[in-house]
Amino acid sequence: MYEDEKLICEDCGSEFVFTAGEQEFYAQRGLVNKPKRCPECRKNRRQKNRRKLYEVTCSKCGCQTKVPFKPIEGKEVYCKDCYAAIKEAEQQNQESV
Ligand SMILES: [Zn+2]
Ligand SMILES: [Zn+2]
Repeated sequence: MYEDEKLICEDCGSEFVFTAGEQEFYAQRGLVNKPKRCPECRKNRRQKNRRKLYEVTCSKCGCQTKVPFKPIEGKEVYCKDCYAAIKEAEQQNQESV
């Protein structure tokens, strides 16, 4: 049967355990390669791939929206619609000057 195996993470160089349970899980899925990274680095990579969205309240219409950047405290954030409306208004202002 399977035995716990110690592996070295390719990313951070730390030792991690490829447990018997994980090996069995890998085998069941037909995966022949051992994991190259520790669970921590694997998690980090997965999170990096997924774009993090921040839940914010639109300063203009008050609706809940998500933005792909970390909102700065005290700075106004807008939902997509309001942002587009503001941009449009700005452009019109510039044109009228
Ligand atoms: Zn690692
Ligand atoms: Zn809004």
